[in-house]
Amino acid sequence: MRYSQSFINTLRADPKGETAANARLLIRAGYVDKLMAGSYSFLPLGWRVYQKIENIVREEMNAVGGEEILMPLLHPKEIWNETGRWNDPGVKEIMYQFKTSEGKEFGLSFTHEEVFLDIVRKNSLSYKNLPIRLYHFSTKFRNEPRAKSGLLRGREFIMKDLYSVHATQESLDEFYWQVKEAYLKAYQRMGLKEVKVVEASGGVFTSGHTHEFQVLHPVGEDTTYYCIKCDWAQNKEIYQGRVGDRCPQCSGQIESASSVEVGNIFRFGMVYSEKMNVTFKDAAGASKPLYLGSYGIGMSRCLGLLAEIFNDDKGLAWPESVAPYQIHLVSLGDTKKEAEKIYKELSDSGLEILWDDRDESAGVKLADADLIGAPFRLVVSDKTAAKNNVEVKKRSSEKTELIKSGQIVSYVSSK
Ligand code: ATP
Ligand code: MG
Repeated sequence: MRYSQSFINTLRADPKGETAANARLLIRAGYVDKLMAGSYSFLPLGWRVYQKIENIVREEMNAVGGEEILMPLLHPKEIWNETGRWNDPGVKEIMYQFKTSEGKEFGLSFTHEEVFLDIVRKNSLSYKNLPIRLYHFSTKFRNEPRAKSGLLRGREFIMKDLYSVHATQESLDEFYWQVKEAYLKAYQRMGLKEVKVVEASGGVFTSGHTHEFQVLHPVGEDTTYYCIKCDWAQNKEIYQGRVGDRCPQCSGQIESASSVEVGNIFRFGMVYSEKMNVTFKDAAGASKPLYLGSYGIGMSRCLGLLAEIFNDDKGLAWPESVAPYQIHLVSLGDTKKEAEKIYKELSDSGLEILWDDRDESAGVKLADADLIGAPFRLVVSDKTAAKNNVEVKKRSSEKTELIKSGQIVSYVSSK
């Protein structure tokens, strides 16, 4: 992509009125636009990063047998009445519910268990059709009273939600733990290397335990108690002990830290399928309620968290797997011809490259390259071009190197 033809608008200073660091950076670097607190548009750069994250999650969901669908966001009150959730005080706090001028009542989706179960029950299912594992990426609406954390807490945000139904508790359990592993792989791949699997209560969703995926980070609104020796971890909401206690699983010591919840998995069992009469026929032909599981990843929250983690005083510094472009090519002076050749060659070899072909000063272009944060920066100047060289720099390092322009592809793929 040529910078001059792309809708990238960076700011020289932080935007006003934005309290969250992730949103400040993302707005400044031209990734997102703020409509109001908790509500952001993804601009071309931001959407590229989002799509990278989405593809990683999609691959991991497909790998455990998930099938992608898309469910509606506008839900009739009736479907929510079937589980009794329409009038649940906890639900009423976060769900946008409204009446049309004709008096019909609707809600905007904050989760999709009811809609998923409604799809499932319209089919006459036998144990042979199970399990069913469907997921989608879609917008969720939540009336968040504290929408001050940028992309970490939206009134409207993107979630990946997967739902599964099973004939037995064992089958549900087996899939639940498979999803746990798939989530850890997905987080790892997008650059969230240290994710804790934390026991938590189900909130408005279930009275049983659930598992949250928490990244320790000062910006987090949750508190995780964890063992410094083993993988034991519990959310503050259910932990009975104190920092310094002995771990109930090993002899390690318990610590606590702020954390960001990037995902949550739930085993609902038969609660909702009994209420909504969602059944299957077992091997003896008897009708039985299905076991339901529900699994969410906060997609836009992950993007915001990555921005919180991967930055320095000059701007963003994306992990390669989610960077909008792998290479930011800067042409300075009278080098358009040389730069164009490199741009074509790299694009043809399958690399994603943003070429800053604008008539701007070196200072502006180099500052924008740092702000946007692609993993590699290439500079072509009159001086380097004269010797058929290119200057290469990794965003994460101060070191620059001169290499022959024909060697860029092999250089980048070897790093
Ligand atoms: P939180 O405790 O942070 O409010 P939650 O437990 O209510 O989140 P879930 O219902 O478990 O959220 O939703 C699944 C995932 O969606 C969460 O793990 C989180 O990553 C993400 N998420 C939830 N609420 C928001 C929000 N308002 N903005 C962005 N992401 C969110
Ligand atoms: Mg949760």
